[in-house]
Amino acid sequence: MTKRIFSGAQPTGNVHLGNYLGALRNWVALQHDYDSFYCIVNLHAITIPHDPKLLAEKTRDLARMYVAVGIDPQVSTIFIQSDVSEHAELTWVLNCVARMSELERMTQFKDKARKQQENITVGLFDYPVLMASDILLYQTDLVPVGDDQRQHLELARDLAIRFNRDYGETFKVPDGYIPKVGARIMSLSDPSKKMSKSDDDPNGCVLLMDDADTVQKKFKRAVTDSGTEIRFDESRPAIHNLLEIYHLITGKSTSEVEDHFAGKGYAQLKGDLADVTIEFLRPIQQRVREITEDRLDAILDQGRDKAKQVASQTLNRAFQMSGLARKRAAD
Ligand code: ATP
Ligand code: MG
Repeated sequence: MTKRIFSGAQPTGNVHLGNYLGALRNWVALQHDYDSFYCIVNLHAITIPHDPKLLAEKTRDLARMYVAVGIDPQVSTIFIQSDVSEHAELTWVLNCVARMSELERMTQFKDKARKQQENITVGLFDYPVLMASDILLYQTDLVPVGDDQRQHLELARDLAIRFNRDYGETFKVPDGYIPKVGARIMSLSDPSKKMSKSDDDPNGCVLLMDDADTVQKKFKRAVTDSGTEIRFDESRPAIHNLLEIYHLITGKSTSEVEDHFAGKGYAQLKGDLADVTIEFLRPIQQRVREITEDRLDAILDQGRDKAKQVASQTLNRAFQMSGLARKRAAD
């Protein structure tokens, strides 16, 4: 049987190069070899303060972006999380399997909670359980994500194993797919932080929808390290990050990249990086503009129906196994 993929991104902002290089790029590459489910995880997006109108817009924008970067709706299932109520329902069941102490250890919760000390929602705390439900509902084999999701993925595995142990075989235990290169693209303004959609500093992220001027400006302002040599050196994180982006976008090997920049300065690196990025983004932005609202709705309707078929089967089984299904004593 064809193995299955599940992954998703939050409509919390605009897709950036980190999302693309760490995750979406692999979704596109893997879709022909796996039965793939790619979700716009809007239930996750309401765990932080949000504007309802903007969230609705960003949800559609993200779906459009999935298609524009090359996820083929004829091949993969693209859908919106809140269209498939099983995600929320399984979360309740898994809430009763997850332990407080496990969730208290989650570094993303600690990071995001720090940014909103006064109004940390229960949803933000519960985010990893919702993510586990997302994955487990599809009997997922492989979850292609960026490095920041490693801990959440481990929890999803632990919850599957625990549920199966306590109630009987129900969920497949998924494996992560975290790329060797590109799994953690750093902010251009602070190379100690990952590029993030919800970052307050707009200069840290290059967005897939940025126009040529903006791309140029952002790379120009990018923080660099001391020294002058342009080579892959992990002890110089800013330059390493810029080179990694260049390497992934151009497809040139690391030694070809180093040869290309030998004897050149940071200004050249930033200029060349802007040029290749602008060229890379042009067709994606063109495709975003071409997708009509009707086409988008058709894709999302079809995706919802396909996702629901699979998700409802797993939820039914989880209900049955944990004693939630209605059954007569004689049955
Ligand atoms: P937010 O700040 O709202 O959490 P985000 O930028 O982290 O947004 P997500 O929607 O949470 O984006 O994540 C979508 C996918 O992109 C995930 O697989 C995640 O691991 C990956 N990802 C996010 N940021 C990076 C990054 N800087 N480098 C590589 N992959 C990333
Ligand atoms: Mg994130």
